[in-house]
Order: sequence, then structure tokens, then C-alpha cells
Amino acid sequence: MSISKPVNKKSVKMLCLGNSCLKWPILLVLVWTIDNVSQAQAVFLSQDLPRRKVVVLDPGHGGHDLGAVGPSGLAEKVVALLVAHKIKEVLSEICEVHLTRNDDYRVDIIDRTAVANHYRADIFLSIHAGGGFRRQGLGVVVFYHSSDTGRIASMPAGQQKGPWGIRAKPLPWNYIQGMHTAKTQVLAKFVHRHLTAKLGSEDTVDGGIREAPCLVLRGADMPAVLVEIGHLSHPADEKELRKSKVISDVAQAISEAIKEYFSRYP
Ligand SMILES: [Zn+2]
Repeated sequence: MSISKPVNKKSVKMLCLGNSCLKWPILLVLVWTIDNVSQAQAVFLSQDLPRRKVVVLDPGHGGHDLGAVGPSGLAEKVVALLVAHKIKEVLSEICEVHLTRNDDYRVDIIDRTAVANHYRADIFLSIHAGGGFRRQGLGVVVFYHSSDTGRIASMPAGQQKGPWGIRAKPLPWNYIQGMHTAKTQVLAKFVHRHLTAKLGSEDTVDGGIREAPCLVLRGADMPAVLVEIGHLSHPADEKELRKSKVISDVAQAISEAIKEYFSRYP
């Protein structure tokens, strides 16, 4: 009997072997109640189906906020959304993926972080292709958030002292990212390595991994990075980012990094 089918309360079924049904006292009787079925299903779900990993992707900008715009008019908001959709396509088989925006509209920075916290994401990744004035093309930079308060937050409770040795005040929610710095750095390393391996060429500038105050990351209660996949203000980067193959490669590289992170922290 399948436990997934509704069963009438106190329903009785006889097991038959071939044409002859077994009679009492050797008659086997199975009695199922709806309560039993619900309980069995709950146990089954909680024991055999672990929570799927959750990734929240944040395509930067949107709506009136174009982000950087390339010399021939390609907007950062468009590139970021294309990459996010592509990553979702690649990762949906293995984890739950949500976007902070699914189309071309504006979302406040604080609301982007709130989406990641709402879904209790395992990873929050903000996607950008911002402006810059590099002579060479396609520089990849991976940022993670840092602030003094963030560093204090990552210390053991007894050692939480400010820069002058004064015990730190209770942490505001805005600095929660500091609790995740160690795993965030691992995530940043994987994303940077996969992206540079996929996109690297002699002309490529490696912007490296950088620590900076990032408004969109600082309230994220999970490992979180911001990725600049290129610099649209440079004609060479804009030309590359117009190619669907490059968008696909970027998405593939970030997806591989996320998979590697999940195998490190299952
Ligand atoms: Zn941007």
C-alpha cells in the first residue's frame, strides 16, 4: 500500500495470495488511519529528504538604474539579469534558486538583502559588470564585505572588543555579515578561481579578491559575495559581454564555484 494515497479511516484491507484469500486467524489485516499516514509521511520527509540548498542571486541595478553603460549602449542591468537567469537554469537541478529581481525593475538595496535572509539562503551572490577605466578588457573582481564592526562580530563573545579595547555594543543587524567572513572568503576564492579559469586570456585583467564595505552584503546572514564579471565602460568588455557564449561561460563558472562550495560545506 502506498503511503502517499489517502486512506479511509479504519479501512481494512485483506491480503490475497493468488485466488484464495487467507482467513482468520491467519488473515493478515492492515489497518491504516489518516493520522498514521500523515505521521509516516512527515517522518519520511524529515528523515529522507534533507533541506535543499538555497541560493539567492542578485542581478544588480534594474529599472531606471541602468548601472554602467557601455560605449555602444549595453547596460549593466541587462547583463546582470542574463547571467542570473542562466545560473538559475544551470543550478536549479541541484538546489533552490531565487532572484532578487526577475525582470527589469528597481529593487532597493536593503530589499535585495532581505530576500536572501527571507529564504534563509546558503549563498547570496550579487552580480555586476560595473564601469571602470582599464586599458585591458574583462577584469573579474570578487568583493566580500568587511568593516571593523564585522570583524568584531566574528570574534568569540568574550573577546568582542572595539578598536580601543572597549567591549563592543550589541551588534546591529546591518553587521551580521561579519559572522560569515570565513566561509565568505572560501566562496570568494572559488568564484574567483572558476571565473578566471573560464575567462582568462592574455588580455584579461585579474582584479582579484577584494575586501570592501558592500552595502548589499553587510546585512546578509549567510556567506555572500559581489562579483564584477567585467567592466562595461571598456569597449572590449562590452563587446565580450554581448556574446551569449560569454554570458553562458560566466554563468557556468559561477555555478561550478557554487557546486564546489556545497561539496566543501554539504
Ligand atoms: Zn553595478
